[in-house]
Amino acid sequence: MSFVRSIGASAPPGSLLTLRGRSDRAPGQAATLPRGTDVARQFQQAAGRPARFDFRDRGRYFRAFFSPGAEGAACWPRPCEPVGWRELFPHVTEADWRDWRWQQRHALRSPEAVAALVDLTSAERRGLELTARTFRLGITPYYASLIDRSHPFCPVRMQAIPVAAEAERVPGDLHDPLGEDVHRPARAVVHRYPDRALFLATDTCAVYCRHCTRRRITGGQEGAFDRAAAEEGLAYVREHREIRDVIVSGGDPLVLGDDRLGWLLRALREIPHVEILRLATRAPVTCPMRVDDALASLLRSMKPLFVVTHFNHLKECTPEAQEACERLVDHGVPVENQSVLLRRVNSSARNIGGLNRRLLSWRVRPYYLHQGDVVEGTAHLRTPLACGVQILEQLRGHTSGLAVPHLAVDLPGGGGKVTLQPEYRVGAPFDSGARGAPTLRANGCESAQPERSAAESKGERGTWFRNYRGERYLYREPPEADCSCPYDEVFFAGCGPVER
Ligand code: SF4
Repeated sequence: MSFVRSIGASAPPGSLLTLRGRSDRAPGQAATLPRGTDVARQFQQAAGRPARFDFRDRGRYFRAFFSPGAEGAACWPRPCEPVGWRELFPHVTEADWRDWRWQQRHALRSPEAVAALVDLTSAERRGLELTARTFRLGITPYYASLIDRSHPFCPVRMQAIPVAAEAERVPGDLHDPLGEDVHRPARAVVHRYPDRALFLATDTCAVYCRHCTRRRITGGQEGAFDRAAAEEGLAYVREHREIRDVIVSGGDPLVLGDDRLGWLLRALREIPHVEILRLATRAPVTCPMRVDDALASLLRSMKPLFVVTHFNHLKECTPEAQEACERLVDHGVPVENQSVLLRRVNSSARNIGGLNRRLLSWRVRPYYLHQGDVVEGTAHLRTPLACGVQILEQLRGHTSGLAVPHLAVDLPGGGGKVTLQPEYRVGAPFDSGARGAPTLRANGCESAQPERSAAESKGERGTWFRNYRGERYLYREPPEADCSCPYDEVFFAGCGPVER
């Protein structure tokens, strides 16, 4: 890094230049530079060889991302922020850009189309080649316009462009990670939980996410879902009165036009025992122009219907995405978000907290943060379980509870969802002399032993907790522990078996 020092030595204070190696070997090396410096020339002279970098002027200082090993690349300044779509697609009219069908028709579907917009790394070139037969490639021009063309760790890029690791299988990877196929009584229906069913409306998406759990379906290997498949699925839901909640998914159901989508939703809405509809879609993220007034009105007419979307990073929170989400909410359609925790994409509290606070400001409620499913080809994007717990630990207490999602693990092979959270109980609950008291499991931490002994000696019953600052608090148990509700017998009389 001698060139960094040489720049710094010649620069008066007042501006800061941060250099960051692409390989993460020398993050955050800093040097001062006079404002207005021709950064490109400084770099070239100091490095003594061609260099490629991006920089942005943050008003008071420059922040530059420098690729020390860029072979033979010309020195060219370019903003890290995505350039406007008009620059990327100069021949596209505003009307076309805002047309969701145009976006879908013009999705980038070949390595050549992607390479024309992005400076591909060798891992990406290889990934595009190796995955061509196993999983579809598709990136709407809108989503492509969010990609940082020169930074391989751009979170949008990592979700949309495959790398060589996607072709690898590691022990534990599964083709059908959630064990759904054994619970598919009809091709379009997965019925895994007692009162909920998943309805697969299509096998296609506007953008094919590299972390997709249902890539065995969205990969196109199964074939499309036609009207006959939908009719068969509807017949199954009609026959199964225990199904109260239907999640319309796919694929992304918003790749369908309003007519086809409206037909399916109406048919489900007309089934008397279906109380709730959910529609799982990434359209607000990948093709927000899909959410127009006509669609929002259609979804409102299917109430109660919840839209469940899938933002993973603040970079996806554009004005267009905001407009799409707010349009739904303004029409009376509740919107929730499920993020997937993706290694080196959003795997920090700063990312998840920032994303969720932004979504809340749009009235989108963060719901789940999913641990990556063990779907084959995604090991490189999965985090250790401890990562998600650590993120929750850093959020809980420090930010609004509404911005703290449930951390969910969908157990491999069809075990269903469980949630994880940091352990706040300290030591075993003590006494428990109260009759019928529910048994709480201890976490084995002995550090609260002195406090516990003191409280126990006073005849108290309770559990010690630590809060988000690490301070200890005692929750005292009430004197009575019988929690049965006598009026249930009256209120629910004649309701049949106990409903949960
Ligand atoms: S939009 Fe959903 S179904 Fe489609 S590829 Fe992405 S994660 Fe998979």
